[in-house]
Amino acid sequence: MFLKRFLKRDVNSTSGVLFTKIELPGYDIAVPFICRKCGTCCMTYIPRFKAEDLMTISRYLKWPPADLIYRHTEGYLKRIRGKPEPCIFLKDQKLCRIYNHPLRPSDCRLYPFSYGGTDADCAAYLEHARVVEALLTNEKAFEIYDASFCPNPDVRLIPAAKWPEICRTLRLSNASRKMIRALLILNDVPLRSVLTCIRLNR
Ligand code: SF4
Ligand code: SF4
Repeated sequence: MFLKRFLKRDVNSTSGVLFTKIELPGYDIAVPFICRKCGTCCMTYIPRFKAEDLMTISRYLKWPPADLIYRHTEGYLKRIRGKPEPCIFLKDQKLCRIYNHPLRPSDCRLYPFSYGGTDADCAAYLEHARVVEALLTNEKAFEIYDASFCPNPDVRLIPAAKWPEICRTLRLSNASRKMIRALLILNDVPLRSVLTCIRLNR
């Protein structure tokens, strides 16, 4: 019970998690995207903002509007000329100053899925793609939806008998503990299967 409660509590803290939904005959698997907060993607990308949104952000950050707009425009022009610099909202190389602000662009919220779902420089994306590929290896009929397609967050439960195979696949795909844990939570794993998964992935 304790483990189940612990996992449940964490479900709330991961709400809004990006995931790929694999639809299989009879059930679905939600594969989470676990960002490592390394900031790499923000080092060479500066999103486009409307002028009025920059004004709102300047008030939020208490950043003089003329300076913010100048630096944003300068950075954006460099990006489209192929000489990208870090986003002006990137703080201490890793954190976004407007991460929790509603005006953080959807391109950023949905990254890397907003970017075609592919970014070889993003270690989290590589892990995500590896796990999705491994889970599909022996499947003949499936549909895949990633976060950029706004998948229906309802997932059909995975039958208990399928969990040992899924847990073995996670081990073979070298999934991190964070990834395994989040996948179990997202898919509302039965407690007995959690124990199987822990045993198989030791
Ligand atoms: S590069 Fe990937 S892991 Fe790093 S912050 Fe961006 S999305 Fe997250
Ligand atoms: S707005 Fe934030 S998340 Fe988007 S590129 Fe800039 S620092 Fe990164």
